[in-house]
Amino acid sequence: MTALKLDGKALSQQIERDLTQRVSALVKTQQGRIPVLATILVGDDPSSAIYVRMKRNACQRVGMDSRPVVLPKETTTQQLLDEIDRLNADADVRGILLQHPVPSQIDERRCFDRIAIEKDVDGVTSHGFGLMALGERAFGSATPAGIMRLLHHYQIDVAGKSAVVVGRSPILGKPMAMMLSNANATVTICHSKTVDLPEVVRRADIVVGAVGKPEFIRADWIRDGAIVIDAGYHAGGIGDIELSGVISRALAYTPVPGGVGPMTIAALISHTVEATEASVKAS
Ligand code: NAP
Repeated sequence: MTALKLDGKALSQQIERDLTQRVSALVKTQQGRIPVLATILVGDDPSSAIYVRMKRNACQRVGMDSRPVVLPKETTTQQLLDEIDRLNADADVRGILLQHPVPSQIDERRCFDRIAIEKDVDGVTSHGFGLMALGERAFGSATPAGIMRLLHHYQIDVAGKSAVVVGRSPILGKPMAMMLSNANATVTICHSKTVDLPEVVRRADIVVGAVGKPEFIRADWIRDGAIVIDAGYHAGGIGDIELSGVISRALAYTPVPGGVGPMTIAALISHTVEATEASVKAS
């Protein structure tokens, strides 16, 4: 059996084509006013700078503007809160991305939660998480939202399947588990204190790697016919899962790169367009 490749790159390009038309229609109805995604980058982490640049490039590709806010690594929580307040109050800004992680002196949770719910296009606020977890309308966290969209596109129905999510971070593992549960999968959340992780993973129909350690999830933990979702990305183009050993045995898998990464950006940009459409409709 050769696994089905869940091609996030191709799907994200298809999504961007649709978004380009929607942005163009929005600009026409708004007398030339272009939707803006504000991106906040605090500090000088090179990977974060690359991620922000990729998100800004995606805005440009679909005809949106991005507004870069770059703050020094010494920024305080209060200074970041003030910046978020300014962006919340700016009617041109339709979405706000605060790139994670921020320097350790900043209370990241407080800053995430300051983002107005209607501009929380990266799905990072507690309010947004709560709504999403309850199955109410909210922009889910971008990476798991992108993964769900990828599964949906390939008509992979998760209902009734046993899903194991390895990782429980607020922006990835936890919202992923909630989204899979809302889609009627039976979900197990694993973390650094999980006992006998390989055995737990072996029982999974769907494995999501969200650990942040290169090829931490070994191929021999994954059973034949599983659906393998790798959210990790590390130097050398490897993920959190030892994918080379599962491609011949899995039902489906996300490549690294070209799987989850492009879908994260597609979800963020889609949410920003939806936020603009909702705001225009309400005005
Ligand atoms: P994180 O905040 O560092 O969380 C890592 C999680 O893995 C934690 O819940 C941790 O458990 C768990 N973990 C650590 N060691 C473990 C072990 N030995 N056994 C089982 N679980 C263990 O990371 P994150 O932000 O969620 O990111 C995870 C991965 O996804 C990274 O590779 C990151 O680069 C990638 N990512 C990709 C995108 C994208 O756009 N493609 C976006 C976000 C993240 P505890 O809770 O017990 O500490």
